[in-house]
Amino acid sequence: MAEVKLLTPLEEVVGGAQKRFLRHLKRMDIKTVKDLLWHFPVRYEDRSEFLKISELKNGEETTIQGVVQSTRTRYLPYRKLSITDVRIADKNGDTLTLSFFNQPYIANTLKEGRVANFSGKASEYKGKATLRSPVYELTEVRGKVKETQHTGRLVPVYHETKGLTSRGLRFIIKPVLDNLEELHEYIPAKILHELGLPDVNEALRQIHFPDKEVNALDALRSFAFRDLFLLQLRNAEEKRRLREQKAYPIKYKESDLKKILSYLPFELTISQKRTLNEILGDIKRNHPMNRLLQGDVGSGKTIVAGLAALLAVKNGYQAAFMAPTEILARQHFHTLIKFFEEYEGGVALLVSKETKVFYGEELETSIKKSELARRICSGRVGIVVGTHAVIQKNIRFKNLAFSVVDEQHRFGVGQRALLAGGEEVFPHFLSMSATPIPRTLTMTIFGNLDLSLINELPRGRKPITTKIVEPQNRSKAYDFIRQQVKIGRQVFVICPRIEDPDPPAGGDEITSKQKLAWAVRAVKVEYEKLLKHIFPELKVGMLHGKMKTLEKTAVMHAFAEGQIDILVSTSVVEVGVDIPNATIMMIEGADRFGLSQLYQFRGRVGRGEHQSFCLLFTDSKSNAVQKRLQSLVTAKNGFELAEMDLKLRGPGEFLGDAQTGMPDLALKALQSPELLKTAQDKAEALLNEDPNFEKYPLLKTKLAQFKREIHLE
Ligand code: ADP
Ligand code: MG
Repeated sequence: MAEVKLLTPLEEVVGGAQKRFLRHLKRMDIKTVKDLLWHFPVRYEDRSEFLKISELKNGEETTIQGVVQSTRTRYLPYRKLSITDVRIADKNGDTLTLSFFNQPYIANTLKEGRVANFSGKASEYKGKATLRSPVYELTEVRGKVKETQHTGRLVPVYHETKGLTSRGLRFIIKPVLDNLEELHEYIPAKILHELGLPDVNEALRQIHFPDKEVNALDALRSFAFRDLFLLQLRNAEEKRRLREQKAYPIKYKESDLKKILSYLPFELTISQKRTLNEILGDIKRNHPMNRLLQGDVGSGKTIVAGLAALLAVKNGYQAAFMAPTEILARQHFHTLIKFFEEYEGGVALLVSKETKVFYGEELETSIKKSELARRICSGRVGIVVGTHAVIQKNIRFKNLAFSVVDEQHRFGVGQRALLAGGEEVFPHFLSMSATPIPRTLTMTIFGNLDLSLINELPRGRKPITTKIVEPQNRSKAYDFIRQQVKIGRQVFVICPRIEDPDPPAGGDEITSKQKLAWAVRAVKVEYEKLLKHIFPELKVGMLHGKMKTLEKTAVMHAFAEGQIDILVSTSVVEVGVDIPNATIMMIEGADRFGLSQLYQFRGRVGRGEHQSFCLLFTDSKSNAVQKRLQSLVTAKNGFELAEMDLKLRGPGEFLGDAQTGMPDLALKALQSPELLKTAQDKAEALLNEDPNFEKYPLLKTKLAQFKREIHLE
């Protein structure tokens, strides 16, 4: 084989009998040499211990080396079976007969006089230990000793697919690895040396065909380190860059703040005060803040952000509030105008089909979008609340000093940059998230942000009673709902997709559009059922992602106004919706949602003064499901649940589709927090020493590529 390059397509290097594997590789998304070599083993089988024939013991994993003395194949036609007996002798002259079932062709390989390794687990046959259908491998080719792949060593075991076994993969990987071009190492040698990690060439060899187990582990660590290091470099770089950028300093007098706070109908919690101080401490500087405000649903993030926004406006600047959905944007808008009633600086709502502005007492509802855009541009609107509509090209701020993004992981990097508007002065940036994320993950994913955590709920909130409802108790649950509605409460019913649609021919992914269609179907079915058969006397409404914006708004409005008793919905009500009078969250097919998502649903109730309930329905009797749902009953807070969720589902599922490129990295981070810390330290040290990567051009290129590949946030 000629020298193999990383980007060489596999068709060019895989030949002969292995060609049939190409199809399977493609299915696993393995198309180039790089894909192949980065398909790491999941574990190793230790076949390194050689035993003499006389030492063979029942039940032990072992390798025997021997010279083939004879082969003979017997056919048992009535049992459709062939048995090939291979007689071998070891160095001591002891002999052993090995039986291979249905592999008559091995006689072509295991010819008399050839030296081979045989690996397997010894079992007893007629009172003597032997190996049945062992893995075999010649140790000499044309008289030359060859390095083995399958026997007599630590043998890699890969994630397999139908038609492609670990053995097949070893056959393909070994020669490719042996002929691979020398790769350039982009991690500074000094760092590898300090951490005792192998360079990329050695790491690749050792991860597939390790000499010793410790070498395989070091190799794995080195690959984990690579990703974490790049990630932390990117984080550290972004932090540095922000320190060089300009922002409008937002100042305030203690007495002014006191006055504003005194207008609120409640006192801030200790956490709210602390996080507000952290934010105010940042935004008074003339470099942009980049902070994540984390807090459970209902912990009162919006008001904290709103207060900072208000101070920005009092300083003569503008602020923007962005939410992932129109429902949420509207809600933020109403929260703000409710809190800042006497405020006259202008709060606008800007979503795709609707615009409003509020100036103190007056609410203008029929303002044209172009007119609103003009007022934003001239600074006659202080706070703009909206969806993506806020970052459309036609919207330009006069002096945007502060921007807030709710549930920021739903916004992309590019959109964030758009908010900055390509200006020389960047807004202070606050992300808000109710998704409790374990700390290690936060450090990885949001490592470029400073963290503020609200870890308490406002006083007087009653804990929500959570119950897993057995199928036979369904009608009791309906009775309970009826009774709650009678005393004036409202109910959410969440439906998952009934089942996943069949994947289309050709193995394509199910598109989000198809998923949506199925979710809608489920909601419609449930809605009809409740409306016609279960609660004909009550007002039942429906909400799903396929409805027109105006319809959705109308339904949410009706629900908020109490004109709907029971709202049947897809997961669109997931984040942030605030209906204090809703006290029951009923979730159908609860096993189909992740814990964090269920947690978010539950957070839709318990927002008012009344005792609230979360009823989980599932048809699954599996222990695992019951246990998982049970943790929702017992977990003390969102963070605890998040940790569990992460363990149960793994980072990929946990983070959802949005985090392309992340799960792998996150997983590594979780497994070794100390490696994450090391990566962070090394990244910061390197940037301090050489911020422009003058000594490390390879690293610079690699980092740029890395940033393109992963779409963080
Ligand atoms: P989050 O955005 O964190 O989910 P919100 O800011 O929407 O939470 O607050 C949830 C509800 O709690 C709102 O109705 C808000 O008015 C109320 N609230 C916020 N802070 C407090 C507080 N300190 N005391 C009492 N109620 C509060
Ligand atoms: Mg919220």
